[in-house]
Amino acid sequence: MKEHIGIFGGTFNPIHNGHLLMVQDAMEAFELARVLFVPCAVPPHKRIAGLVSTVHRVAMLEAALDGNPDFELCDLEIRRGGTSYTIDTLRKLKLRYPDQELCFIIGSDTLPELCQWRDIEGILALCRILTVARPGFELAALKRRSLKLKPPWPRRLLKDVVVGHGLNVSSSNIRYRVAEGMTIRYLVPPAVEAYVNEQHLYVR
Ligand code: ATP
Repeated sequence: MKEHIGIFGGTFNPIHNGHLLMVQDAMEAFELARVLFVPCAVPPHKRIAGLVSTVHRVAMLEAALDGNPDFELCDLEIRRGGTSYTIDTLRKLKLRYPDQELCFIIGSDTLPELCQWRDIEGILALCRILTVARPGFELAALKRRSLKLKPPWPRRLLKDVVVGHGLNVSSSNIRYRVAEGMTIRYLVPPAVEAYVNEQHLYVR
């Protein structure tokens, strides 16, 4: 059997325990050998107001991944710069891992948005997409046609899903909480909480 390499792309503004636990869930369910965390430079599908610098986002990722040899930081999109398109990243990673199966991990909120991604057909040809349920974006409610992709992709995508622990945490809620002076303890790893406080990130 081919080794499975997980790829987890995100803005990570900041990385939180929801990210870490969903990746751990995917790793277990799909027997991934390891997972590359790929922070984007400029996200194509998000407003970038409130986006802290790549230096901070990478530092928080490093702090969060420290001590887990199965989780690796991959700074390919940061080094490439500009708008980060997943198709470009997958092409590069396929050259690096020609004999492995690339497994791109997403949350269930992202599944219906895939049809808008640049060259989604190319992406689907290069990797398998693994979806982890996110609270508020229930998989049971997702119909094949709502994915707006040609057959056989909707059926295939809806097969590769895992329910996981479903931690209701988001980066936007963490930013909001910091701006409101509320604690983010237990929502992010302690080292990330310390970094956010030391660097005065997300304060109003
Ligand atoms: P924001 O709140 O700023 O939109 P976010 O918390 O969604 O950010 P991202 O870095 O944009 O975090 O997410 C990267 C990936 O992680 C996406 O595929 C998203 O669906 C998934 N994801 C994020 N948080 C969770 C969660 N709690 N459960 C499941 N999937 C999640």
